Amino acid sequence: ALPAREARTAGRSRDKVDVLAQYLQERGHSKEQLHMVVIGHVDAGKSTLMGHLLYRLGQVTKKIMHKYEQESKKLGKQSFVYAWILDETGEERSRGITMDVGQSKFETATKVVTLLDAPGHKDFIPNMIMGATQADVALLVVDATRGEFETGFESGGQTREHALLVRSLGVCQLGVVVNKLDTVGWSQERFQEVVGKLGAFLKQAGFRESDVTFVPCSGLTGENLVSPPSEDMLLQWYKGPCLLDVVDKFKSPERPISKPFRLSINDIFKGTGSGFCVSGRVETGMVQVGDKVLVQPQNEGAIIKALSIDDVAVQVAYAGDQVSATLSGIDMQNVSVGYILCDPTQPIPVTSHFEARIVVFDTKLPITKGYSVILHHQSLLEQAVITNLVAQLHKSSGEVVKRRPRCLMRNSNAVVELQTSHPISIELYKDIKELGRFMLRVGGVTVAAGLVTQVSKLTVILF
Ligand code: GDP
Repeated sequence: ALPAREARTAGRSRDKVDVLAQYLQERGHSKEQLHMVVIGHVDAGKSTLMGHLLYRLGQVTKKIMHKYEQESKKLGKQSFVYAWILDETGEERSRGITMDVGQSKFETATKVVTLLDAPGHKDFIPNMIMGATQADVALLVVDATRGEFETGFESGGQTREHALLVRSLGVCQLGVVVNKLDTVGWSQERFQEVVGKLGAFLKQAGFRESDVTFVPCSGLTGENLVSPPSEDMLLQWYKGPCLLDVVDKFKSPERPISKPFRLSINDIFKGTGSGFCVSGRVETGMVQVGDKVLVQPQNEGAIIKALSIDDVAVQVAYAGDQVSATLSGIDMQNVSVGYILCDPTQPIPVTSHFEARIVVFDTKLPITKGYSVILHHQSLLEQAVITNLVAQLHKSSGEVVKRRPRCLMRNSNAVVELQTSHPISIELYKDIKELGRFMLRVGGVTVAAGLVTQVSKLTVILF
């Protein structure tokens, strides 16, 4: 593979066409990025499955695994040994539940997959939402055990809710792991039964049949995770891909390199020389040393004096890169975490009023007109009010079921208008996905997540 970073550090800034050509060449040599969230009912076996997968892929050393085995034996919880790989703190371990979205990476033949682990425990749903808002694709895990699949699938179970949630947040591709097939003697009939029931529901929920793949597995025994089945009873009827191949076959999202430049600032610090530094992810487009940028919503210009990735100086950074940029021509006081650096010729919209499609989660009180929330957009936190309930939508078809509803109950989908207390930089979801999603929280609890559908009072000021 081409040493991407060295190539980037070489030479002075060139025009955008050259930079794009170089990017495409580099990309031809490297694996595609994929963000995956794992969803499903509590106890479906999500942690065990992903932990075992990481272990089989060599992401966990024998030594650490041995330590986990010893510890789990001591506590009499051997069956949790793989799930522990994803759990970080001792407290979670002794309670036997996963709490945080623990990020882990693994590779398939063509992809680097960032795993956003979604715990299934009801109390911790907000963490799953965080994962879901960042996901390109989802793995839905269901327990094939007789009675258990039904519990998760019925109303009150999380199988349907999670599938609807990721679909509402823009995820189209789904891998369905029909898990714990060891508990039903690798029965083809049971597999087909689950595929039949779930398949019909997913179709109704708006997933295209060609974007959904069912795969029989056992997270506990490791069957069909990273290599074809070895179990005779499964081999007799299953000729399809293993889980790793299902993940490899997902279509990666286009890295939005040709879109206008956007970087969302998540840290600001004093540099060594003159000027100061901001760091964050290049969400779209690219940026070079020497570029003029606009800092929004402040509407002030700045110059990129230097760029670095992992403390190595580079001349150019692309969508998907986490970078530090040294800025000059702007006062450090005028820049805040949550602000966006953008291309001054195609700036990000700035507004304090917009319309969005939201999914309502667990709220104690129904959402009514005038409901106050904290809007989380990238690293920005902003006080906001839901000023209008435009329509309630059908959860799976997305059709309007009621115009101007008086309130929104938990688990409903709706179109609402929001007013923020200060102007913010935000994109339409259809233009730039990464900057068109947000979450609404109240008292530290996520009450809704949404996609921006209309921005009013567009402020476009040229640099
Ligand atoms: P999560 O809540 O979805 O993360 O589920 P866990 O991974 O914590 O698993 C819940 C329980 O199911 C644990 O006791 C696991 O040992 C058990 N389990 C997980 N996967 C399998 C499997 O493939 N086969 C069997 N028989 N049990 C499993």
